Amino acid sequence: MVIDGFGRPLSTLRLSVTDRCNLRCSYCMPEATYQWLEKPHLLSFEELARVVRILRAYGLDRVRITGGEPLLRQDLPKLVAMLAAVGVSDLSMTSNAVLLARSASDLLLAGLKRLTVSLDTLKPDVFVKLAQRDELAAVRLSLDLVAGLGFHELKLDTVLVRGINHDEAVDLVRFAGDLGAEIRFIEYMDVGGATGWRPDLVVSQAELLQILAGAFGEAVALPGRGAAPAQRFRLGNGQTIGIVASVTQPFCADCDRLRMTADGQLLACLYAKTGLDVRTSLRRGDSDDQIGHQIGDFWRSRVDQGALQRAGMLERSGYVSLEELRTNPRLEMHTRGG
Ligand code: SAM
Ligand code: SF4
Repeated sequence: MVIDGFGRPLSTLRLSVTDRCNLRCSYCMPEATYQWLEKPHLLSFEELARVVRILRAYGLDRVRITGGEPLLRQDLPKLVAMLAAVGVSDLSMTSNAVLLARSASDLLLAGLKRLTVSLDTLKPDVFVKLAQRDELAAVRLSLDLVAGLGFHELKLDTVLVRGINHDEAVDLVRFAGDLGAEIRFIEYMDVGGATGWRPDLVVSQAELLQILAGAFGEAVALPGRGAAPAQRFRLGNGQTIGIVASVTQPFCADCDRLRMTADGQLLACLYAKTGLDVRTSLRRGDSDDQIGHQIGDFWRSRVDQGALQRAGMLERSGYVSLEELRTNPRLEMHTRGG
């Protein structure tokens, strides 16, 4: 086990396997095109699995595959099988589910345990407004399919943006209940630079709980959160939901999360501007021990508390400028896994 400068262990990896996406969510990657990561720089499945194996010796126990849209990566079930063979106790994936129907069974068979699908609206026209693509029908089809497949857990992730989908919280909770999925609302974060984030667009945990209390009765916070980003609540109707209040109640103090971009840059925080270049170490022939030591040192020197620092700012707008974003492909949310 390795502990950072604030006593936080390295337990979880958000493993981004591509920076590409088939949607253009307004809160994530609204631009038509970006400065993409260079194809030859993307880590191969063997390289990704090797990093996970090395991290295993430093206490890593949970891996979440993400992107961009992870299902745009060819043969993803093959990677899942390779990661499952490494032996982490929790292997999960977050996807927009546009392409999920065709590979869901293979992913399950390959060893994917838990699945999170991002779903922000039940209205086709709002989907188009939010994601700039007309794909809600494909997402709903995938959800119907995976709900019956037997994943250990199916979750929905929702970002509410005031003025776009903030009036759908109650309907989305009901939808999740009918599907047998737990819904998690993520406060709209100011990562990246093209999203046009403003504080007034964020639907806070406090406001959301008030809206839900109006429909379901008072919610009760559930104990035992640990290092999980979401605070879970039992609603008046007995349904359980989660809220990731990263803007109004940052959970930096418990953050055990390392991120890796698809081109092998380790990031110690969602807001980190630089990280550790593992790709170079892998490709110049460093041994597992050498790479492990580099990662261990990197984690031990970690003092990041990005969301907490942002919360303390009086004037707050997008994290980086568009100009900065155009010179560095790794600053927007879609390269750092959400
Ligand atoms: N494409 C996949 C998806 O949408 O599920 C995986 C990658 S996406 C970057 C991972 C998660 O990040 C999604 O649940 C998305 O809602 C969330 N996300 C993206 N931008 C966000 C933002 N600005 N604030 C909060 N959550 C965000
Ligand atoms: Fe794509 Fe996911 Fe970002 Fe939406 S949230 S643009 S689906 S990476």
